[in-house]
Order: sequence, then C-alpha cells, then structure tokens
Amino acid sequence: MAGALWVVGEATSEGLARVSTEVATLARGLGEASKRDVVGVVAAADPSTAAEELARYIPRVLAIAAPEAADRSAAPAIAGRLAALVEREAPGHLLIGATPDGRDLTGFLSALLGWGVLVNAGSVEWTDGRPAVEQSVFGGKLLTTSTFTDDHGIITVRPNSTTAEPASSPGKVEPVDVAPSVELPAVTLVEHVDESSGTVPIEEARVIVAGGRGVGGPDGFSVVEELAAALGGSVGATRAAVDAGWIPFAQQIGQTGKIVKPDLYLALGISGAIQHKVGMQTAGTIVAVNRDPDAPIGEFADLFVVGDLFEIAPAIAAELRSRSG
Ligand SMILES: Cc1cc2nc3c(=O)[nH]c(=O)nc-3n(C[C@H](O)[C@H](O)[C@H](O)COP(=O)(O)OP(=O)(O)OC[C@H]3O[C@@H](n4cnc5c(N)ncnc54)[C@H](O)[C@@H]3O)c2cc1C
Repeated sequence: MAGALWVVGEATSEGLARVSTEVATLARGLGEASKRDVVGVVAAADPSTAAEELARYIPRVLAIAAPEAADRSAAPAIAGRLAALVEREAPGHLLIGATPDGRDLTGFLSALLGWGVLVNAGSVEWTDGRPAVEQSVFGGKLLTTSTFTDDHGIITVRPNSTTAEPASSPGKVEPVDVAPSVELPAVTLVEHVDESSGTVPIEEARVIVAGGRGVGGPDGFSVVEELAAALGGSVGATRAAVDAGWIPFAQQIGQTGKIVKPDLYLALGISGAIQHKVGMQTAGTIVAVNRDPDAPIGEFADLFVVGDLFEIAPAIAAELRSRSG
C-alpha cells in the first residue's frame, strides 16, 4: 500500500484548530482520488479533545501524549515524537495547517526527516500519482502548481481554502506511545498575549466587517469597529487601507493577505478589486455599502447598498443595539 496521507492536527486551548478540520476534509478528498489511507495525528500535552474532534473527519486518528508540551512552545516540544512516528509508520505525505505553530512544526519536521516542503497551498489535487499544490507567489502576481520529486513531502495549507465537512461516520482515536527521535531545545512559554482583546481572529470569524479606502483614514475605522462590535464580529481591511497604515497587516484580506470564510461579510467603502475578492468571495452572505453604484463589488455582493458608509454603518449599528437592548 502506498504511503498514507497524514493530517497533523493542531491542538489549541479550545480543542482542535479550525484549519485542521479543513485540512482533514481536503485530505479525505485526496485519499479518495489517490486510493491512499488518510490518517490523522495529534501530539499535545493532552491530545484527547483535539484527536476526538479530528476523528469526526478522518477514519483513524493517532493521539500522542507529549507531556513536555504543557508549558512549552508546541513545535519543538512535539516535533521529535512526530518525526519518530513518521519514521516508524512511513506515511507518504504530511498535511499541516499554515498557522504560526503549523509553520514552525513544518520547519522542524522537514529538518528532522529530510523531507521537502510546499508551503501555503491554496488548493491541492491528486494528479499523476502525486499531490499537485497550487501556491500564490511573488506577492500574489503568479499562481504556480508544484509537486515533489520523490514520494513524500510536507504540505502546509492556507486557512479557509477548503470548507470543512465532517465524514459520514466518525473515526476512531488510537493512543500511541512514541519516544522523541531527538531531544530538541525546550522553548518555555512565559506568557500568552491575545493579539487583540475580545475579538476572534479574522480567519476564524463568523462575522467580518471590513473597511477599505472609502473609510478615509484611521479615524474612519471607528465606524467599522462600531458595527463589528454591534454584530459580535471582527474587523478586516483591504490592502489599500493597510498600505496607508490605517490598520495592521494582520487584518488584510485578499491575495496577499488572509483568506476568510465568514457567514456574513460586510464591506464598507471597498471597491471589490479581484485581489480582494479572492480573499472573501466564499463568505456565506456578502453585503457591501458603497456610494458608487458602479463599484465592482456590486456585481458579486448578495446585497449592495448604494450610499455613504458614514450614514449607513452607524444607522445599522444603532438599530442592532436598540434591538438587543
Ligand atoms: C499583486 C497585488 C496583490 C494585492 N493584494 C491585495 C490584497 O491582498 N487585498 C486587497 O484588498 N487588495 C490587494 N491588492 C490591491 C487591490 O488591487 C486594490 O487596489 C484594493 O483592494 C483596493 O482597496 P479598496 O477597495 O479599499 O480601495 P478603492 O479601490 O480605492 O475603493 C474604495 C471604494 O470606497 C468607495 N467609497 C469612498 N468613500 C465612500 C463613502 N463615504 N461611503 C461609501 N463608499 C465610499 C469608493 O466608491 C470605492 O469604491 C493587491 C494588488 C496587487 C497588484
């Protein structure tokens, strides 16, 4: 049997990272196309919750208890055990979510196993007996398709590039015992600091209110923030707003920013350029407010409101507050 496809699930304090459910769904499709087994693996101080969640997507999940990961940076703490398990079980490819921890882990595994890496996949298909990985390169100017020259490799997958769907029947979790292949230097965690208090990161958000050049400046973003708060959502932005220094790059959505998939995407003062559209077009419902009736976003928004965002957004926020109060 050719080497299995492994999904390395990321354990968080809340359970399984959402991106791991997307990677698992992607891997299931690749497993069908390649006729290879798909196996999940979770290594953490206590892998049980994340492993059970991953098993909703994949028939077999290996759970590695790594007690040393309790108060340490995850990647160097778990990489030695994962590498040892890969050497023992000989899978074909590893698929990992392209989160900060996922990227760290990929670097360690690549070095320990001597495997090649294809990063930030926007999509992966099985072609000619190998995974074909689509990547956006040169700041989004080109899309390339690459594969590995040998029979194994590591692929990191961009969050929100696949819609997660649980399998028709849940899989099984198998605890596995494996000693680290190597003791890596410990990186002790001193403190966890949330990037922005109280709001969900845009990759995970169910509701996003995004502002573009139309908000006019950093102060204009207070209107965006007010509406996001009224909706319990997170704030996003176009590159124009980020390049102008009105809002941090972490909030940028699009080809050179993040891909998001909220249930509701509310765009304020955003024209709808293709480089922005590719980052938000799979949102459940797109509502756009723009004073230009010919703005391109009107062509793909579900609801297009022609008007001044500085009148419309505060009015919606006030209405929402009055209903909830
Ligand atoms: C290689 C490359 C990569 C890129 N990557 C990204 C990316 O990742 N993300 C991204 O967003 N862009 C990206 N861009 C830039 C992209 O091409 C657009 O320039 C950008 O998305 C435009 O941002 P915007 O919609 O905020 O600004 P604009 O296109 O200037 O649109 C502003 C809109 O606001 C409206 N408006 C103005 N005032 C008001 C008001 N008071 N009320 C209501 N509406 C108002 C205007 O009618 C206009 O439609 C990239 C470009 C390149 C070349």
